Amino acid sequence: MSQAQEHARLDALHKLDLLDTPPSEAFDRITRMASQIFGLPIAAVSLTDHDRQWFKSRVGVDHWCIPRDKAPCAEVAETTGTVLIPDLLADDCYAGSHLARQGVRFYAGAPLVTRDGFGLGALCVLGTEPRRASATEMAALHDLAQMVMNQIELQHAFGRIDPLSGLPNRIQFLDDLEDLGRDRPGEKRLLVLVDLARGDQLTAAVRALGSSFLDQLVKDAGRALRSSLATDQKAYHVAATQFAFVARPGEDTAARVAALSKLMEGSGGEFDLRFGMTTAIGLASFVAGAAAAHDVLRMGHNAACDARAQQVPVTSYSPWNDEAHQRRFRLLNDFGAALGSPGQLKLVVQPRIDLRSGGCVGAEALLRWTHPELGNIPASEFIAIVEQTSLVRPMTGWVLHAALSRLQAWQSAGLDLDLSVNVSAANLEESDFAAQVQLLLLNYRIRPERLELEVTESAVMANAQRALRQLEMLDGAGVRVAIDDFGTGYSSLAYLQRLPAKVVKIDRTFVRRLPEEERARTLVCSMVSLSHDLGYRVVAEGVETADALQLLGAIGCDEAQGNYLARPMELDAFERWLDAHPSAATGRTAAA
Ligand code: C2E
Ligand code: MG
Ligand code: MG
Repeated sequence: MSQAQEHARLDALHKLDLLDTPPSEAFDRITRMASQIFGLPIAAVSLTDHDRQWFKSRVGVDHWCIPRDKAPCAEVAETTGTVLIPDLLADDCYAGSHLARQGVRFYAGAPLVTRDGFGLGALCVLGTEPRRASATEMAALHDLAQMVMNQIELQHAFGRIDPLSGLPNRIQFLDDLEDLGRDRPGEKRLLVLVDLARGDQLTAAVRALGSSFLDQLVKDAGRALRSSLATDQKAYHVAATQFAFVARPGEDTAARVAALSKLMEGSGGEFDLRFGMTTAIGLASFVAGAAAAHDVLRMGHNAACDARAQQVPVTSYSPWNDEAHQRRFRLLNDFGAALGSPGQLKLVVQPRIDLRSGGCVGAEALLRWTHPELGNIPASEFIAIVEQTSLVRPMTGWVLHAALSRLQAWQSAGLDLDLSVNVSAANLEESDFAAQVQLLLLNYRIRPERLELEVTESAVMANAQRALRQLEMLDGAGVRVAIDDFGTGYSSLAYLQRLPAKVVKIDRTFVRRLPEEERARTLVCSMVSLSHDLGYRVVAEGVETADALQLLGAIGCDEAQGNYLARPMELDAFERWLDAHPSAATGRTAAA
């Protein structure tokens, strides 16, 4: 037996996960039968490991293993043939063996052979006297060895076949992909992953029809996929409603996938997936042996997700999308830790200037995150991610604490300044948000009118009724509400008038175009006058030039904020900046 063959044989044995497992009655029953048929005291299911014979089952033996060297069972495993030794002491090869030294004289062993032809070991019977074996006895031993193999394969299949579809599952898929890497390293292949339906479609169908619908769907789809593949091509059931297969080299996958897509959606005729489920197919090409099996599966899954997002039936894996997703996932994962570790998060503030007096009336608090490995993460990036999760609550909590503690310091120092804090849609959905804010104001002994909360139109519209309740409570408590990024949403001013807001912040996209575009000037002009008519104070965001500032003054805008006036800066820097730019002595007056 060559070294490579022995290596593959050991690999097959180890993959079965049999070695060093506890005895089981299923095997012992067969071993006892072998001992009875031969009328001999010793029998065993003996597996040939690297350097030992290990007994999965044994009768009349105390130990678990013997050395492989000069063990007749090793010969059975290596040759995958029967070995019969009437008298070990009379045998040239085995006279000096471990067994002979232990007093064993007779040996008969039948091979345990896998479907792939690997000899795992032997079912053997041993006697302490020399003996012959009849053809009937040997045939029985052979049959019993076959039964041992069936038992081994049955045990191995358990947990590898999906009971619903009857197809090999993800564990088997990963194993087979690793085998492919070993058997055909460097070969280019394509993974096809079929995702049967969108989550919401499945939920809706199960709600209406019960979970047996889902079972049927999966069975039908599995059968349809199986029958669309060549007989020697395996279909796998890799997740509850996902199937996969590896296309063969040179196969016309475009045509195959197009047909598959039709078939899965039920337009292919015989197979009826019913109720308009949308199938998404992800393709991932890979080089056998070069990528880890679970990465190949992940790439296929990613591609199917991209197909869903792009609302197309089929998409190929895109490393760029994958990277972006990995980054989003990582940021989300790490933000939780950032909330608890000092130094990663900080507030900066950007001054707001009263356009009549030219003095600073307050500032907007903006959150900054320095990731320990990725460095500074733009607020526009991480906040959009965090806002999708429950972490938004502790995030806003963190910002409010930091903002109020600084407001407290300003108040003690006699600084006449307000601070604005941005609030997310999800915060407005918390039923106790307003109450929490009031509690914080009390704890920090801050007058409510010192705090302004900025909400965007879309944040309010996300769940208008709940949001309105919170905003009304905040307004009732004296906290000022501002509409941020005004003009970018779809709501009309008439609708916004229902909001208990006092301030409108015109989005920087309009302000930026002011100096060059007549249209932008007209727009800002009417926004300002309408807002004033409705009783709002108007702030222009993102003022970048002297021209824009001058125009805003002429239009009658109340306040401005932007890099031309002052960039967002750290709190200490802001306090130094204030020394050179005194706060507005007049304070705020109602605009209208
Ligand atoms: P926003 O509330 O509209 O904040 C104004 C953004 O405009 C800030 O971006 C600010 O740095 C930027 N900006 C100010 N002046 C100029 C200018 O002259 N030109 C330009 N191009 N940009 C200017 P930042 O800090 O990156 O924040 C982006 C967005 O992230 C904010 O938009 C806000 O929606 C959100 N955000 C920031 N901090 C927080 C926070 O603590 N909580 C929540 N919920 N959202 C926050
Ligand atoms: Mg804002
Ligand atoms: Mg804004």
